[in-house]
Amino acid sequence: MEKEIKCSKCDVETIIIENRLFFTEERKVANIICPSCNTKIAEEPIDGWFFIQTKEQYNFQLQIDRQKEEIKFEGII
Ligand SMILES: [Zn+2]
Repeated sequence: MEKEIKCSKCDVETIIIENRLFFTEERKVANIICPSCNTKIAEEPIDGWFFIQTKEQYNFQLQIDRQKEEIKFEGII
């Protein structure tokens, strides 16, 4: 599950990727901290773990993943 939150302090867009565990117990509330300015931007109930990165980092990662896919296909052909 992915969620976008914009930091109210520095306007950086942050992507939160939530990974739920298979067997969940009670949900805890976790603080979402802006990776750019370290301000708390949200509180989310969570059962599992989550990964926070800026939208810029997220898009960069997507680009790398796409390039990896292309290399894989070239290897097959
Ligand atoms: Zn911020």
